[in-house]
Amino acid sequence: MSALIGITPSVRVDEKFGEQFTLALTYTGAIHSNGGTPIVLPPQDNASALLDRLDGLLLSGGGDIRPTRYGDQQVHPTTYGISDRRDAFEFALLRGALERGMPILAICRGIQVLNVGLGGSLWQDVSQLGPGTLAHREPLEFATRAAPAHDVMVVEGSLLGKVYGAPTIAANSFHHQVLKDLGTGLLATGHTADGAIEAVELPGYPFVLGVQWHPEMMYEVHPEHAAPFRHLVAAAEVYGGRDARQGIAAD
Ligand code: MN
Repeated sequence: MSALIGITPSVRVDEKFGEQFTLALTYTGAIHSNGGTPIVLPPQDNASALLDRLDGLLLSGGGDIRPTRYGDQQVHPTTYGISDRRDAFEFALLRGALERGMPILAICRGIQVLNVGLGGSLWQDVSQLGPGTLAHREPLEFATRAAPAHDVMVVEGSLLGKVYGAPTIAANSFHHQVLKDLGTGLLATGHTADGAIEAVELPGYPFVLGVQWHPEMMYEVHPEHAAPFRHLVAAAEVYGGRDARQGIAAD
């Protein structure tokens, strides 16, 4: 059986029908076309029950984390799309996945969840990095979503370097927040020229990779961006196989 990869959706409020969850099909397509079986995870209280069935976790992009989660009492004017339900669900999934050693790929909002979940913080708006900040928030249009917006410089010898096999990555950019203080154990392994952290990983864990860009929007046009999904699926197969062997040994 191919590795089962759980993907977190966005949570939005519909005026008529209440809370809905949504996910761009590019996420499920990226997992499916790189050898995995994607499944969308409905936000619910019991994250462990879902994790028990999964081989890997993909934390997707979306709206902002509630700033009090990382100690900011002020909400910046550009901070948007907060869902306490989504925050609670994803932090519970992250905690459980880390405890299990489950492979994790964290994209855009996902890298921010990974960082805040480990005790790190965020700049609520990328402009807070100061003058000379690159354009990290391109207009999100179909014609441009796969187009590179800036280069990411990769730390040599990192997991990110192994995944992409290159010293720089041409990445798209649709975020307005960016990592500030790093969470416990995280290593920043990708930066833009303005000093923004664009990638992190967790040394000592089998596979935990966070990227601030959207490889799922790029991989069909720029094939090197399939690599994060391919590596997540490969690590998830190892994780799932390990569990199966332990199950057999326990019998
Ligand atoms: Mn960027």
